[in-house]
Amino acid sequence: MAWADEIKEIKTICHCGKKATMNARIDGSGQMESSGEQIEIGGNERYVSLCRECFYSENTGL
Ligand SMILES: [Zn+2]
Repeated sequence: MAWADEIKEIKTICHCGKKATMNARIDGSGQMESSGEQIEIGGNERYVSLCRECFYSENTGL
């Protein structure tokens, strides 16, 4: 299952090229949602992997 490991590795790279250690929730308009609301699963939201730096600067790369 080498291919699975490879996919996993790709997903954990931030758009800036650093290793992603955070997962940010992005709504339909490309804005990072706050961690306060965790409802409406299955909408337009999606998750992106970000490094710590981009996560706290809300730089989603979108
Ligand atoms: Zn980054």
